[in-house]
Amino acid sequence: RDFTHYFTPQQVSYAYHLSADFMAELLHEATRACHIDAKVLKIARVEGGAEVEFEERAPERYDLVFDARGFPKELHPDQHINISFIPTNTAVIRRCPAIVAENGEGPVLQHTYTRAVARPHGWIFVIPLTVHTSYGYIFNRDVSSLAEVEADFDAFLDADGVSEFEQRAVIPFPNFVHRQIYDGAVARIGNAAAFMEPLEATAIVSAQLQIGMVLHIRLNRPVESLERDAPVVNRFLVNNMLCYGLFVGWHYSCGSQYDTEFWRNARDHVWPQHRVAADPGVVDCAALEKLDDMIELLHRPVIEKADWNQMCAVPLTSYAQMSQGLGC
Ligand SMILES: Cc1cc2nc3c(=O)[nH]c(=O)nc-3n(C[C@H](O)[C@H](O)[C@H](O)COP(=O)(O)OP(=O)(O)OC[C@H]3O[C@@H](n4cnc5c(N)ncnc54)[C@H](O)[C@@H]3O)c2cc1C
Repeated sequence: RDFTHYFTPQQVSYAYHLSADFMAELLHEATRACHIDAKVLKIARVEGGAEVEFEERAPERYDLVFDARGFPKELHPDQHINISFIPTNTAVIRRCPAIVAENGEGPVLQHTYTRAVARPHGWIFVIPLTVHTSYGYIFNRDVSSLAEVEADFDAFLDADGVSEFEQRAVIPFPNFVHRQIYDGAVARIGNAAAFMEPLEATAIVSAQLQIGMVLHIRLNRPVESLERDAPVVNRFLVNNMLCYGLFVGWHYSCGSQYDTEFWRNARDHVWPQHRVAADPGVVDCAALEKLDDMIELLHRPVIEKADWNQMCAVPLTSYAQMSQGLGC
């Protein structure tokens, strides 16, 4: 039970953590766009497009709007699929000194792994960035108190040899998939489309898929097909995010080296809700069926080579690793 899972990127030996601020600057340099710096009050579908209402300025009409306002403050059952089978809902974020030694402008040559470490109240991510290391304790505030989590966080940092940290935030988050990721005029992307923890590398690939698919359809299909295409694209995107959600929920149910209330609750009370939450009749897609196929494959004494590349959000090999439970 005391082992490490290796999730290395395929075909390459590196991964990226992107700085949102620098990314926006970089894109701005290569884009011809009108930048409106205002709070968006409402985005509504109207005949032939969508209307955006702003704070303290007149509304604008567009053919297509990408809604990237992040996750909602509260979930509404008519708009959001509540993926309540994921047992975490809060993060404590701490900033610690950089692990990477400063070496001027050149590339960082030593290994700088992102770590995800199982703990009694959930798990901790460790993300080595260039100027600091970001630590986050992901837990369930309905199961563990903040004081208990902070105490275990202190013990972990102590064992990791980190003597100083800056407390950054305590972030409550929802676990959901939006029912209407794309309706033909409004495309919800990133955290506005879905959220679950951990998203990790899936956050970037999901946003790429959402933007790429919507643009591909809009730029290549005749305008008469718009109404017919939208529900098909939406079902595909909802299915994709729900598959990620099911994998995430299932991986918590596989347990860890800790037999604590958090891990027992994840397995015995939270995960069993997935059959109701992802019922195809309720979510209008076949994500649950795909997950069932993967679990069935996992239980076979021999997995045929032809099945090795089967996927439900992630490949069968990831399911096989996770089915062993989470090490440290
Ligand atoms: C604890 C935690 C850890 C995470 N770790 C990782 C990780 O390791 N790797 C990873 O890839 N992802 C991680 N994520 C997910 C991360 O949140 C997403 O990858 C990323 O932030 C999604 O970007 P986004 O632009 O969709 O949403 P956000 O980053 O939430 O951005 C939304 C933006 O919209 C703006 N906005 C909101 N409302 C309005 C409005 N009304 N008008 C105008 N602007 C508005 C906000 O100010 C904000 O700038 C983590 C998330 C959490 C909570």
